[in-house]
Amino acid sequence: MPPVTRIDAIRYARHERPAGDNFAAPVDDHDLPMPLDYYVWAIHRADDETGSLPPVIVDTGFGEAAAVARGRTITRPVIEGLRDAGIDHLSVEDVILTHLHYDHAGSLSLFPNARFHVQDAELAFATSRRVLDRATRAPFDGEPVADLVRKLYRDHVVFHDGDAEFAPGIGLRLASGHTAGLQVVCCETARGTVVLASDAAHLYANVTRGLAFPIFIDQPDYARAQQRALALAGGSLDHLIPGHDPLVLQGFPAENDIARVDLPPHTSIADML
Ligand SMILES: [Zn+2]
Repeated sequence: MPPVTRIDAIRYARHERPAGDNFAAPVDDHDLPMPLDYYVWAIHRADDETGSLPPVIVDTGFGEAAAVARGRTITRPVIEGLRDAGIDHLSVEDVILTHLHYDHAGSLSLFPNARFHVQDAELAFATSRRVLDRATRAPFDGEPVADLVRKLYRDHVVFHDGDAEFAPGIGLRLASGHTAGLQVVCCETARGTVVLASDAAHLYANVTRGLAFPIFIDQPDYARAQQRALALAGGSLDHLIPGHDPLVLQGFPAENDIARVDLPPHTSIADML
């Protein structure tokens, strides 16, 4: 049995927007709708000796206050999406934070019993003088970062410095550029390595068009991060799970806004673009 037995991509929010907002360079279809979906991910595992292990959660999403402040629509609160995926948030022991932007690390309080796994560079950046720059600060919310610091002082934070093996069949790979310490999560499943790319690739179109999403701290690094995520997925879009693409729910077997990305898509993602 592969170490990872199931991966849920659980949608919790949406933002309607035109395509032009999703690329760092002009695009011909800039007026056409290209909404963003917001996800958290749950990695389910099995252990040969003890049976199932607690699922690992990737990112926490945001709550109603951030949704109102930023004009996003919560489609189903994260806590309910987890419950619909059979996960009790109180039993979660490990949460991997891909990065600390508000939409990925906004609801730490949902997981009072968890350790939070973050890259050294990410927390260092989010508490550094770089935050004084308003544009750089915009995708962060201060309270969740402060929450993470409070958790650090209660021994609920685990730091990773670059690539790391998180657990059998789950690897963390540094892919900075969008942020200083963005990490993607590689999962060994029955169909091979599935890469939870988070915002190393917001949308499949960012990868296929070779155009960055227009939020980054270092554009060349971000371009390399996108390519790294794709390479980790064996060059296959079917094995790359972007952070915000509605095609994930359309392409993979899905029910109730939860896509099974450990399974192959119905038709190849490349044919859907
Ligand atoms: Zn994001």
